[in-house]
Amino acid sequence: MLPAYISHSDCVRHEMGEHHPECPERIGAISDHLLIKGLLDYMRPYDAPLASEEQLARAHSLSYVREIANMAPGEGYAQVDPDTWMNSYTYLAALRAAGAAVLATDLVVQRKATVAFCNVRPPGHHAERNAAGGFCFFNNVAVGIRHALDVHGLERVALVDFDVHHGNGSEDILYDDVRVLMCSTFEKNLYPYRGSVPRGPNMINVGLAPHSGGEAFRAGVTEHWLPALDMFRPQMIFISAGFDGHREDDMGNLGLVEADYEWVTRQIMQVAQRHAQGRVVSCLEGGYVMSPLARSVAAHVKVLIGAD
Ligand SMILES: [Zn+2]
Repeated sequence: MLPAYISHSDCVRHEMGEHHPECPERIGAISDHLLIKGLLDYMRPYDAPLASEEQLARAHSLSYVREIANMAPGEGYAQVDPDTWMNSYTYLAALRAAGAAVLATDLVVQRKATVAFCNVRPPGHHAERNAAGGFCFFNNVAVGIRHALDVHGLERVALVDFDVHHGNGSEDILYDDVRVLMCSTFEKNLYPYRGSVPRGPNMINVGLAPHSGGEAFRAGVTEHWLPALDMFRPQMIFISAGFDGHREDDMGNLGLVEADYEWVTRQIMQVAQRHAQGRVVSCLEGGYVMSPLARSVAAHVKVLIGAD
């Protein structure tokens, strides 16, 4: 049984115009670096399948899923929100990204993989039940979580989100689902300008001041996430793995470094060992400067797959 590495070439065909930060090169920058670091030697590669309408409709309304399908342009671009655009491959890529989370869930729950990392785009954590936004169309982790709960019958699943932006989409979909605990850290007063007041008791929102650095990030996780996770005893953990809080990434100002991503991954894996038989699925969210993105993902994956 090996860790799973899930991606798809369709994820590189989606693009939102020249100079858009959420660019196709992200996928190759990550896979190249994982290859160079030797980490892919320890993982089994899988092609992401297409998520079905039924799978997507566990996290989104069916009318929203069909609305996105209908917006896909035959050529050129279709604007979904000021930052979020579709080209003729976007719908396929979005189905692959959500399908990756479904496959990852199947592999990990059925003990065909120890853990899984999904190197996919578009990202998902800003996609709400009925709205795209922030470069996101379908909420990949939420689709995976509902698959774990509704199809595999798990009773308690945790989502942890360390992207520099608040996962408003995940909160919108999951805040009234008592089977889910969501723990997030994010930079305050940054897009999507939400998260300061949690929408449900199952939401642990840790807003961090700009420039507060790794020490404040680690304190937030230690003081707020870990006690809540230990009390909740998740049977499986999903990670919204965003790396745009890195100090070399101009999308945010938290000033995190690779060692912080390594540290938080270790905390998550220890919770997973205590409560969840080590079952963890990690899905790529943000991270927009290629070198720190690739290095941070490698630091994360090394601990995720136990190669540290
Ligand atoms: Zn982000």
